[in-house]
Amino acid sequence: IYILAIESSCDDTSAAVLCNTKVLSNVVATQEIHKQYGGVVPELASRAHQQNIVPVVHQALAKANIDKKQLSAIAFTRGPGLMGSLLVGTSFAKSLALALNIPLIEVNHMEAHILAHFIDDEEMTAPPFPFLGMTISGGHTQIVKVNHYFDMEVLGETLDDAVGEAFDKSAKLMGLPYPGGPLVDKHARKGNPSAFSFPKPKVDGLNFSFSGLKTSILYFLQKHTKNNPNFVQENIDDICASVQHTILEILMEKLDKAAKETGIKHVAIGGGVAANSGIRQRLQDARETKGWTTYIPKFQYCTDNAGMIGIVGYLKFMENQFTDQGIAAKARYAIGS
Ligand code: ATP
Ligand code: FE
Repeated sequence: IYILAIESSCDDTSAAVLCNTKVLSNVVATQEIHKQYGGVVPELASRAHQQNIVPVVHQALAKANIDKKQLSAIAFTRGPGLMGSLLVGTSFAKSLALALNIPLIEVNHMEAHILAHFIDDEEMTAPPFPFLGMTISGGHTQIVKVNHYFDMEVLGETLDDAVGEAFDKSAKLMGLPYPGGPLVDKHARKGNPSAFSFPKPKVDGLNFSFSGLKTSILYFLQKHTKNNPNFVQENIDDICASVQHTILEILMEKLDKAAKETGIKHVAIGGGVAANSGIRQRLQDARETKGWTTYIPKFQYCTDNAGMIGIVGYLKFMENQFTDQGIAAKARYAIGS
């Protein structure tokens, strides 16, 4: 089975070709235009998707050495995401499927972040059911009980900012360019995680909150730069390490609670923040300290990519879960709905 997958939910235009569960190509065009605005500008994102989509799909087919006549189906991200961005991928997928007269498969982006673990790759192992999936990305923070491929239950999620947003907004306060998450990670590796301490929010159950952290970082920076205008530059590594430490503590506490409550010890992470070296280390350590079996996707399957859309496409293909041409993009699209 050859699947062409298309992802355009936010600011990355991506296309992938899969042969069954193997990814033959996974091309990602990251939109640089948003950097100068310090965040994604929806209107510019959808325009850039329109420019990128044809070349990106061509490249994915060429790299996989597959002719479009060989394709078995086309999978695309239906949502959640930015409406204008989703429309580009959705319309393109629909037209191509129609032209080639092959089935169309809609994919939930958040389910794809979790199911990326089922991509066949020698550096990855697929978790057995049931497992806990923690999706940590730019727009979401969720702990999900995964009973089966298409049987997922959200146990907890953020009540305000997503964890990726917490990274990016903290970075912005320190004057780091967008997206700041990877830069915080880079500085944190050189800093002392206990140099500064930030309060952790009190949230019941398995839900998260990150908006308070941003505010306390703002006050912290204001206080210190009043006495020393170079405070941030001089302490960037330690500040990043301390901020990251606080965020990781929040994530691990909830994950631990979820594991205890469900009795599940197979824990998988996904989403862009799963690229963070600190969370990867914490998960590694939990194998020894908590007796968990942990699953961490390869870096390129953490951030937005069409490979993860393709694996869901394949799994749905095998279950005959196709969609018709009447399908519309869905900006808000809950897991399991
Ligand atoms: P969603 O999947 O919820 O729609 P998204 O697609 O914008 O959101 P992803 O591409 O999955 O999100 O992840 C992007 C986020 O991951 C950004 O907030 C970015 O800063 C963060 N991120 C990427 N690498 C790292 C890292 N090494 N450390 C911390 N954060 C990181
Ligand atoms: Fe994403």
